[in-house]
Amino acid sequence: MTKRTIPARAVLVAAIFLMMVRAAGATAPKVKMPKEKKLVLDLLAAPETIEKYGKISDAIWSYAELGLQEFKSSKLLADTLEGAGFKVERGLAGMPTCFLATYGEGSPVIGLLGEFDALPMLSQKGRVAKKEPVVEGAPGHGCGHNMMGTAAAAAAIAVKEAMVKFSLKGTIKVFGSPAEEIVASRPYMIRAGLFKDVDAVIDNHAGDGFGTGYGTDGNSISSAIFTFKGKTAHSAGEPWVGRSALDAVEIMDVAANFLREHLPLHHRLHYVILEGGEAPNVVPDRASVWYYIRSTDEGLADMFERVVNCARAGALATGTELEPVRIISAVHQSHSNKAAAEIFQNNIELVGMPSWTDEEQTFAKALQKELKAEEKGMPSQVEKLKGPGEIFVGGGSTDVGDVTLIAPTATIDFPGGVPGTIGHHWSAVACFYGSAAWKGLIAGAKAIAASAIDLLTRPEELKKLRAEFEEMAKKTPYKPFLPADSQPPTDLNEQLMRRWRPLIDPY
Ligand SMILES: [Zn+2]
Repeated sequence: MTKRTIPARAVLVAAIFLMMVRAAGATAPKVKMPKEKKLVLDLLAAPETIEKYGKISDAIWSYAELGLQEFKSSKLLADTLEGAGFKVERGLAGMPTCFLATYGEGSPVIGLLGEFDALPMLSQKGRVAKKEPVVEGAPGHGCGHNMMGTAAAAAAIAVKEAMVKFSLKGTIKVFGSPAEEIVASRPYMIRAGLFKDVDAVIDNHAGDGFGTGYGTDGNSISSAIFTFKGKTAHSAGEPWVGRSALDAVEIMDVAANFLREHLPLHHRLHYVILEGGEAPNVVPDRASVWYYIRSTDEGLADMFERVVNCARAGALATGTELEPVRIISAVHQSHSNKAAAEIFQNNIELVGMPSWTDEEQTFAKALQKELKAEEKGMPSQVEKLKGPGEIFVGGGSTDVGDVTLIAPTATIDFPGGVPGTIGHHWSAVACFYGSAAWKGLIAGAKAIAASAIDLLTRPEELKKLRAEFEEMAKKTPYKPFLPADSQPPTDLNEQLMRRWRPLIDPY
């Protein structure tokens, strides 16, 4: 009997072939999910968890509290975190509705951002596919912030459970961030030192897609109120005695609108008149206008000065006085960390797009029809990792921008909304309530929690985030646009909320 032997060369060829196949992934063994990550995903998938956070999100949606008036929304989230074993500090950085919830100790310190403020004039019934306000003219959640603070809290509580069960080292912090819609909390929170020891930050935003991205995005912004003082007089009897502050506002606005023609294409400028007199027969001696001046980090100071000159022109032309300009807030563009976004993207792909019920698809298509958008229903796929666009077009602003300059940060955009809806519009308010919103925020919470687990348990990954961040910080160290003497505008939405609260929330 001859023993069949395999020549050594054949063994080598076979071994190389096997290595090539493995490298191509064809027979690569599936990477086992770490037990910590499995636990947070399981916890967040439990029906009672979905219901618990879904109800919190819907409650915040119904409170519809404007920036720095989010007393009930902030309390609900802070109480939820405190009840789950977090140490909660409230009323921070000069803002009664700002809170910080902390669990664990020592490094790494992972921060989660959570927002909860609403927008004026957007009241709308949830899951109704045509414009139908709950209370005409009242505020509404047209940007999904009701889901966002909730997603951060849900994620943090799940991560805490994993930290306890597996004795993970480190700290998890939820930054209860009020007033994002007036970009007015983060620069004050940074100034108060709240982010001092944070190694990395996971931001989140509700929308209709599930994805993340990196690079420079959005506009920087100065938010400022210009107030003019004039003289009253009988508008018909002795108009020559009067000096109209409203005229000054109007001239300022005309000048700013001419200025618009000479701005770079990706800059933005918009305003609302806050005060313009009280009756036509009294020359208004006081008028004010609130501007959002949006530019790039490099262009903001120059653009702001040009708008201030428009105000000076208004005062000069009308013989009124321009009061010192009140800066509500001023923030940078977002500079999201690529290494962070890559981790977030992996977890978004791991979680996957929720599946939607027939009822959710029917609502989505009805809303799309109403908006004359493509009737394609809810999305089925997560998005690819987004880099900076080839052409910078500018657009919205967020005070998360300042956070991206003091710690490596990226944003997890999570679904729930209907594609084709319009931001800051009744259609968005209609989406961010009920079952699809619940699923979306839970998908977001899963991606946040899984990413937090990665950052807590994989120091080599956190190192990559830090190295990229230090490189950027060397080139563009954080210099706040916010003037040192600015104070959080806790009074700004007070009157509006006093007017609407008894109507939208009689208890
Ligand atoms: Zn938003």
